[in-house]
Order: sequence, then structure tokens, then C-alpha cells
Amino acid sequence: MTGLTVAGAVLASADGLATADEAHHPHAPESKEALDKLRAGNARFSTLQLHHEDFLEDRRDAAEHGSHPYAAVLCCSDTRVSPEIVFDEGLNDLFVVRNAGNVVTTGVLGSLEYGVLELGVNLVVVLGHEDCGAVKAAFHTGKHASATEDYLEALIRPIEPAIRLAKQLPGDLLENAVRENVRLMVGKVRSAPFVTDAGRPITVAGGIYRLRTGKVELLDL
Ligand SMILES: [Zn+2]
Repeated sequence: MTGLTVAGAVLASADGLATADEAHHPHAPESKEALDKLRAGNARFSTLQLHHEDFLEDRRDAAEHGSHPYAAVLCCSDTRVSPEIVFDEGLNDLFVVRNAGNVVTTGVLGSLEYGVLELGVNLVVVLGHEDCGAVKAAFHTGKHASATEDYLEALIRPIEPAIRLAKQLPGDLLENAVRENVRLMVGKVRSAPFVTDAGRPITVAGGIYRLRTGKVELLDL
């Protein structure tokens, strides 16, 4: 990740220095176009009509033109939910940030800030999924005393408000918790300064990946 800087600081480039505000992002489409691309890719994946197979061309493009994702995706680390696969994309298409439970942490915000301000994406998608083990685990935080640092518990503790909300809703408890977790995390990203003060419209969307159908259901948030 060469050229990585804090927002507003200088960007190192081959031909000199430019401020982040002056950096050009000719490959980042508007958010609606980016969302349409994701929808189309997921439709291909869910119907097993995959288009993406030319990884050699991807490698050449990435080497010659640098990193040009058209969207950022925050999703769970679950092995069943790989963004490039479920959106039928290849190298240099998506800026992906992952952890167990698609939790918005300081580190996640830093990564997304890089994607928005320095790579120029106009769309951020928070992608949860059915049967999320991290969300399940968040039902039980604080119940096990541990003599050592519990890193997992620290990671998933921000899911707890979604659990409390889900318990008040009718229907399937885990399904509701997954949805409320996505809603909660979308709200956190939307209120981050790199979104509110980006100087251009940034769309933050939320979705749930369905394990059996392979479909990403975009939420109306
Ligand atoms: Zn998960």
C-alpha cells in the first residue's frame, strides 16, 4: 500500500507530490453505478453465470495503473462470504475490509477512510450474512470470566446494542440481530468524518448475504 498517508496529507506519487484533495480518481464511478455493478455481479454469481476469469489482465492493470477499486466492502471474515467471489469480481475491483462480525472498529474506519479519501471510492457496503457466528457469540459476551485478554469478546462487544434491539423485534432472533448489526455499523460509517466531510456524495449501504441462494439482499436503511 504505497503512498498511504493520513487524510489531507501528501500523497507520494511517481511524478511528485499532490494533496489528497487534488488526487484524481478517474476509475471510481458514482455510487449508483458502483451499486449497479455489485448487483449485476451478485446476480451472475447467484445464477452461476460467472464472467470474471481474466486474472492475468487484472494483474497487468493493477501493476500498470495502481489500485483502483470501484467500491469498498466491509464484511465478515466468514469463509462462506468472500466479496470478490459473491460479486463476481477480480483483482483491483473491491477495497475489502474484514473481521469477525463486520464490526466497525477504529482500524476499520481507518481502512475505509483510506478507501474513500485516497482511493476515491464513492460507495461503501457493509455486508453481513446469515448464520453469523460472531453475532451469535455476541449473545454471550460477558458471561465467561477470563484470566487473559479476550480479543474476540473485545471485537464483538460493539454488536451488543444490535442484540438488545433484536430481542425486542418479532421474528427470528438471529436474523434480526444480523440485520440490526448491519444497520448499526452502517450508521457508524455514515457518521464518520471521512463520509460526512468528504466533499462529495458518499453512499454507505448495507446488505445481508444469503448462504443458500448466494444472493446479497440490500437493506433499505
Ligand atoms: Zn459472520
